Amino acid sequence: MNEARETIRRAGLDLGFAQVGFAPAEAPAHSEVFLQWLDRSMHGEMAYMARQDTVRRRLEPAAALPGCRTVIMVSLLYGPSDAPPTDADADAFLRPILAQYSQGRDYHSVFEERLSRFSESIRALHPAAAIKAYVDYGPVLERDHAQRAGLGWIGKNTMLIHPTYGSWLLLGELLTDLAIEPDAAFLPDHCGTCERCIEACPTGAIRGPRELDARLCISYLTIELKGAIPEKLRPMIGQRVFGCDICQDVCPWNTGPEPADTAPFAFGQPLAPASMALWAEQLLEMSDEEFARRYEDTALSRPGRSGLLRNVCVGLGNSGQPEALGLLERCLADRSPLVVEHAAWAIRRLREGSI
Ligand code: SF4
Repeated sequence: MNEARETIRRAGLDLGFAQVGFAPAEAPAHSEVFLQWLDRSMHGEMAYMARQDTVRRRLEPAAALPGCRTVIMVSLLYGPSDAPPTDADADAFLRPILAQYSQGRDYHSVFEERLSRFSESIRALHPAAAIKAYVDYGPVLERDHAQRAGLGWIGKNTMLIHPTYGSWLLLGELLTDLAIEPDAAFLPDHCGTCERCIEACPTGAIRGPRELDARLCISYLTIELKGAIPEKLRPMIGQRVFGCDICQDVCPWNTGPEPADTAPFAFGQPLAPASMALWAEQLLEMSDEEFARRYEDTALSRPGRSGLLRNVCVGLGNSGQPEALGLLERCLADRSPLVVEHAAWAIRRLREGSI
């Protein structure tokens, strides 16, 4: 089956995936850790993760695809940026900071298109094969399978890391009933004694090696959380309006990789204005329908207009720039109570200096 495996791998690499690896469809190595993570409610409001049916599918690939025998893991490269923005950037107090992956087309669509073409290539070789594709919203513990498939190790920041590509990897997978000889697992743990990601996380979300409390993670707070951001965490978010890359930016394994070719994610126009003030103005005047049209096929659509404007208010409050006060006062009249409450907090923070 080695020859068949290499033919499939070649087909995946020809489609532009950076890595293609094969893992047996076994229970993920960290199944128990995942169950404990759920027990401790570290998934926050992401209730879908704790649903019985999705938990079962995460732990048993055959529950997601009957007869599943192989998990084909693939990755796409997406970073790093040339110069990751930081809160300390003196001329950029009003600049919104967005997670690197969000600055283009939604990677889910890019992935789905490629995985669909990859499935077709495999079906051309094996017409009877059952194949199911997932990107990260699917019920799959993909980092475990990726490590088992030889794509990298799971770092203390919980990201998959490869010695050449760092952690700028987006993962997707094909479950199949084809019996394909697995690749060797990636066994070395190259984190060693390093703990930079744990030390750098402003909210302390990485409680220990490979233990991420989503309820504290800035990505969760600015994207997945639908309601109010806990007040004590707001100052730590800085100007991160959508997601966070701090634990990746500080990782020594991310200093080597060349910036990836992001052409597949190109959106054709900048998604966010260069200033949070301008962005707040635009969002204030947008209907929900206009917002949906403007951000269709981008990750920024996920928190919705009010969620994004909530985040911009927090960023303005953290900017230390009193010229943002007028705009925040306009936000007090927004139709969303969520925005109004965060705008009021931001005004207090700008006036009082620290809350
Ligand atoms: Fe591992 Fe250090 Fe990177 Fe964290 S920053 S993932 S500890 S190498």
